[in-house]
Amino acid sequence: MSLLLGCIADDFTGATDLANNLVRGGMRVVQTIGVPRAPVPDVDAVVVALKSRTAPVAAAVAESLAAARWLRAQGAPQIYFKVCSTFDSTPQGNIGPVAEALLDETGADLALVTPAFPEAGRTVFKGHLFVGDVLLSDSPMRQHPLTPMTDANLVRVLQAQCRRAQVGLIDQRTVARGAGAVRERFAALRAEGRTLAIADAVSDADLLVLAQAAQSLELVVAGSGLAIGMPALHGLAPGSAASSLPPASGARAIVSGSCSAATNAQVAAFIAAGGPAYAVDALRVAAGQDVAAAALAWALPQLGARPLLVYATAAPDTVRAVQAQLGSERAGALVEQTLSSVAAGLVAAGVRQLVVAGGETSGACVQALGITQLRIGPQIDPGVPWCHAAERGLHLALKSGNFGGVDFFSRAFERL
Ligand code: ADP
Repeated sequence: MSLLLGCIADDFTGATDLANNLVRGGMRVVQTIGVPRAPVPDVDAVVVALKSRTAPVAAAVAESLAAARWLRAQGAPQIYFKVCSTFDSTPQGNIGPVAEALLDETGADLALVTPAFPEAGRTVFKGHLFVGDVLLSDSPMRQHPLTPMTDANLVRVLQAQCRRAQVGLIDQRTVARGAGAVRERFAALRAEGRTLAIADAVSDADLLVLAQAAQSLELVVAGSGLAIGMPALHGLAPGSAASSLPPASGARAIVSGSCSAATNAQVAAFIAAGGPAYAVDALRVAAGQDVAAAALAWALPQLGARPLLVYATAAPDTVRAVQAQLGSERAGALVEQTLSSVAAGLVAAGVRQLVVAGGETSGACVQALGITQLRIGPQIDPGVPWCHAAERGLHLALKSGNFGGVDFFSRAFERL
């Protein structure tokens, strides 16, 4: 195998988001959970999903380096370090320290850095990141529990995280003049001794210019937006070949542990349409009842082509009441444990098409199912593709909380 692109994502749903953009552009992509230990099928790009966004700096650096070494050993000429489109990080990192380590590992003398994705409302102008119409520092990210972002100036934010690298800016006037002008700017920044270049982008056209200019760089650091222009640079075009998966068969089920507004609406719509559904009550789990076994006893006799739903999804008031009683961490862990046992039991009993709602819930289910590689298939809704886990002969859609239209649960199966 000789990869066209090697990607390292600092969280699981971010990895899927990037993989999805590459597949839409015509690349065949496998996403792996951590650094692969088994051989990966012949594809154009591999996205290694890590959980390094809020890990201790040393661990994030070590895991990212291990991923980069594996990807380069498979021939990847460029490493794409995928970060959050809101540049989620702390004053210690991990974007800066990981980027510095990857510069050393790849021998790159300059890396392009941009979280911009105008299609998703993330734009960068004069180095400042906007979320929709407001600066990052005026957006809800200001109050994020783990990575509060109180400064929208990405040059300053990234510089503060770096020990050795000097950070420069490629501003929008330069990007607007095309890839040649951006490459001239690369040369000027190198001459100043700068090794990380924050790049402005306010439109998809800007991202296409940046991807083209960066094609010869060994390292880029970006949200999932920069990926949209990359397949075309390798002569690939959008089409169904890249996203085709083995044919789907077997029973269908949905496991939902997200309590987001979107997922609450999706669960309500599924039940209103007469879909069979079983509610998991966190308090019964905490009281020591085997709720997973009860859910499976309900589900197994009715497995078939008609999808059934097992859900812990609840309205904010209910969740707050449960969290007040159990503590939010314990409540989350108990529910994740229950739902992942349910997912494992369903697959053991013949479910071959499974939708999981919730980012953390998806991580728990993938782990319980022992899945380490996912081939990325056709998109159901923006950011949510069907995947195929060859290890289990399973089609899987992992939906992060706020994604998907209200009829997602029924439409997902029609898409296969
Ligand atoms: P999202 O993608 O919407 O953030 P996640 O799965 O990442 O969804 O997070 C939802 C969290 O809420 C999980 O830890 C899950 O176990 C927990 N949870 C789900 N249902 C309940 C509930 N009824 N009461 C308390 N916690 C719950």
